[in-house]
Amino acid sequence: MQPLVRTVGISKSYPSGGTIVRAVSNVSLTIEHGEFVAIRGRSGSGKSSLMNLLGLLDRPDSGRYALGGREVAKLSEGGRAAVRSRDIGFIFQQPALLPRATALENVELPLVYAGVPPSKRRRTAKEALDRVGLADRSHHWPSQLSGGEQQRVVIARATVNDPALILADEPTGSLDSVTGNEILSLFETLHHDGHTIIVVTHATEVADRARRQITLHDGRIIKDAAAPGNNLLPAPIAMDSFP
Ligand code: ADP
Ligand code: MG
Repeated sequence: MQPLVRTVGISKSYPSGGTIVRAVSNVSLTIEHGEFVAIRGRSGSGKSSLMNLLGLLDRPDSGRYALGGREVAKLSEGGRAAVRSRDIGFIFQQPALLPRATALENVELPLVYAGVPPSKRRRTAKEALDRVGLADRSHHWPSQLSGGEQQRVVIARATVNDPALILADEPTGSLDSVTGNEILSLFETLHHDGHTIIVVTHATEVADRARRQITLHDGRIIKDAAAPGNNLLPAPIAMDSFP
């Protein structure tokens, strides 16, 4: 099978106060189906810029990007929008829900765009809310939900049409640590269920929940390694082998 993500030398610069900032610099990266990857680095290291390229929210100045084996770097705006809505689920730091739609209606939205008929839409969205533990909040407005609950609704919405790739940019950045941990546990569940997840974060405790960590500095990859703990786990020992 083709890797899910394969970039070859992608770069992105932004004009900034008379000069040019090279936010993403010659990044070559391969991510397989089912991986749980953290992209880490200090503020300003290019994490969000890289995520915007991987999420087809932005287009690289140069380099190649194949998503699921298909070259997408040069797609038109409309072509990129179609790939985004079908293949990518987004989770940002601030849960951006439609304020005048219920939790359930928010989760249904990607299915509306995909042309799924109403009864199936409702059923699928309910299942997605159930998976994030919010079945009993279906008819609440976003303003009636806590920050952590809103982020769960966002995760339900981002996964409801079973996207190939889940992209999260500082998903716990606006939450307290207990609530943030609950959200990270949900990512682990999604990973166990076979989803491919890329989490962008400056926080070590978030990056350490992933299986692989890619570190950026000045827009370049300076390290790409298994997350601590995840590569060192001994093979399971059968209990009856102990005396
Ligand atoms: P991070 O997410 O790691 O904090 P960013 O990708 O947001 O980093 O930013 C990387 C660099 O690119 C920074 O120097 C930032 O100021 C610059 N940058 C990002 N987006 C833009 C933009 N739209 N216009 C100008 N400069 C930008
Ligand atoms: Mg950022």
